[in-house]
Amino acid sequence: MASKKTPSARTSPPGSSGTTRTAPGGGKRGARDLQSFRRRLEEELTMLTGRYAGLEAATASDSDAAGELGFGDELADAGSYTFDRERDLSLVGNLRDLIQKVQTALARIDEGSFGRCEVCGEPIEAERLDALPYTTLCLADARRRSRIR
Ligand SMILES: [Zn+2]
Repeated sequence: MASKKTPSARTSPPGSSGTTRTAPGGGKRGARDLQSFRRRLEEELTMLTGRYAGLEAATASDSDAAGELGFGDELADAGSYTFDRERDLSLVGNLRDLIQKVQTALARIDEGSFGRCEVCGEPIEAERLDALPYTTLCLADARRRSRIR
């Protein structure tokens, strides 16, 4: 019986000439998350600015319409009218607030400070960031802040 030993045992396989491929499980995941956060924030921003513009137009044309219709029913409707208008205005205010937060978050992605608590500098909990991508506070500091007032 001719027991042949495989001749290729020692020859190194061709092709692998020292190129460093992307290491599996390397530390690139953070960067990819940033991209998806950016996309989410940009979508959010588009949605919010659209709604904001719509609301602003609505409140503006609202007062126009009231001026034209007005007169006789003005006193009777005044109460509910101001209530509606106030609610719209606070909605607009909330939206403006949110838009600002989203814009800040996008700026922080550019800066590289996204995902860090602006108070203690620690990374913000992943779950929290996932739920509120525009937050700038870690859970502990957010709790502390809401307790203060
Ligand atoms: Zn913090």
